[in-house]
Amino acid sequence: MSLLELDGLTVRYGGVTAVDNVGFTIEPGTLVGLIGPNGAGKTTLIDAVTGMVKCGGDIRLDGQSVTDWPAHRRSRAGIIRTFQSLELFMELTVRENLQTYARPHAGGPSGDPVGYALERLDVAWAADTYPSELSHGTARLVSVARALAAGPRLLLLDEPAAGLDAQESQALGAKLRNLVDTGVTTILLVDHDVDLIMNVCDDIQVLDFGKRIASGPPSAVRENPEVARAYLGTDTSAEPVSGGTGGAA
Ligand code: ATP
Repeated sequence: MSLLELDGLTVRYGGVTAVDNVGFTIEPGTLVGLIGPNGAGKTTLIDAVTGMVKCGGDIRLDGQSVTDWPAHRRSRAGIIRTFQSLELFMELTVRENLQTYARPHAGGPSGDPVGYALERLDVAWAADTYPSELSHGTARLVSVARALAAGPRLLLLDEPAAGLDAQESQALGAKLRNLVDTGVTTILLVDHDVDLIMNVCDDIQVLDFGKRIASGPPSAVRENPEVARAYLGTDTSAEPVSGGTGGAA
């Protein structure tokens, strides 16, 4: 059974249809990329799946509809997200940041969800520092670790590589892949770093103007002419992406 099924997912903001009748599934134990130009609806899709905006259509977790569940019930069921803008608590240490999310079942072999999450992201050394003391790259890893401490079954990451250089992004990708390959969580990864997405994802979903325009394994998506036109093309106005070959239109 699929871990997550989206069926006709639609989100409207006034006259704007930010997510337009989107359907796809995420299988357990996979790392799925979600890409598309700025404004394509990627963050809104995460908002809808986590219960932070109202939507039409149906969202199922393990075959059960969660569409009417409030956000806190979804997070308790294991649907956990990060934010594009980090949202770390600046007056709490890294350890205290993780403690706000930690759930006992996320403790791994040691039974300590905070220590386990910090170790999995290689940031245990930063436990007693404050977010303002960290490099941007480390702060990004801490934000992922904080989400991991909540014991996600589905971890939705909103541009975790934003602001990272190519090497940091590659290292992040290896850590995410490792979390999936060791059965810790399933991941939906939104990012504009096309190299990261192409290198680590099993499957990629592509949005444009709220609609799903393509999906499949990285090789197929890279060669899809509609994706090239909407996102991966040679548009000279495209945003540069760290280490990537593509850009945001
Ligand atoms: P980016 O890559 O820039 O983060 P995105 O693919 O995540 O973009 P969204 O942020 O989901 O795109 O935005 C989708 C559309 O919905 C855009 O047209 C955006 O302007 C609009 N939108 C998003 N949030 C709101 C809101 N709270 N109120 C009104 N319109 C919104």
